[in-house]
Amino acid sequence: MEQSASQEKPACDYCELISSPGAFILYEDKHVVAFLSEEPISEGSIVVVPKEHYVIIEQVPDYVVAKMFHVANKLSVAVFDSLNALGTNILIQNGVAAGQRVNHCSIEVIPRFEGDALSFAWVPKQLSEEEMSTIEIELKELCSNIGGFETEKEEPVVLDSSAPKAAEDGAKKGDSDFRKKQFLRIP
Ligand SMILES: [Zn+2]
Repeated sequence: MEQSASQEKPACDYCELISSPGAFILYEDKHVVAFLSEEPISEGSIVVVPKEHYVIIEQVPDYVVAKMFHVANKLSVAVFDSLNALGTNILIQNGVAAGQRVNHCSIEVIPRFEGDALSFAWVPKQLSEEEMSTIEIELKELCSNIGGFETEKEEPVVLDSSAPKAAEDGAKKGDSDFRKKQFLRIP
């Protein structure tokens, strides 16, 4: 109990890594951090994580999931351009059964090179028409509840000493412009 503040965050390799000065951080914004993997599958393997601690992807808010994929996609492009990769595998190991080893949700961008001998190949299962149809029925029922996209809640507008000038501008251009300007000033 005496360490309540430091115990709020669970022990997590990625939480620790992204706040350590030795991390090879490639990209960082409000929600997402990307860094070079410490256990690379191939040269230049990158890990993209939410800044906040979430264990599996279903816990991550939609807008952060979207940002994670946006960043993974851009890093994949960077890998093609700078490391001359011939392809990338963009991988999520979601849950222990799927091979997840760190208890912090991540997307891995794995550069692929000619003759790298990595294999993501598997023998396809042979399912009957009936088996496929049963699975479809079971899944479709839940798929109807996918619902809307969870957007980020707007932060309260903080007025500072230069607000009267901005408020004047805002009054001319409309309230949403004014709010955008306010956001730009919030550190
Ligand atoms: Zn974590």
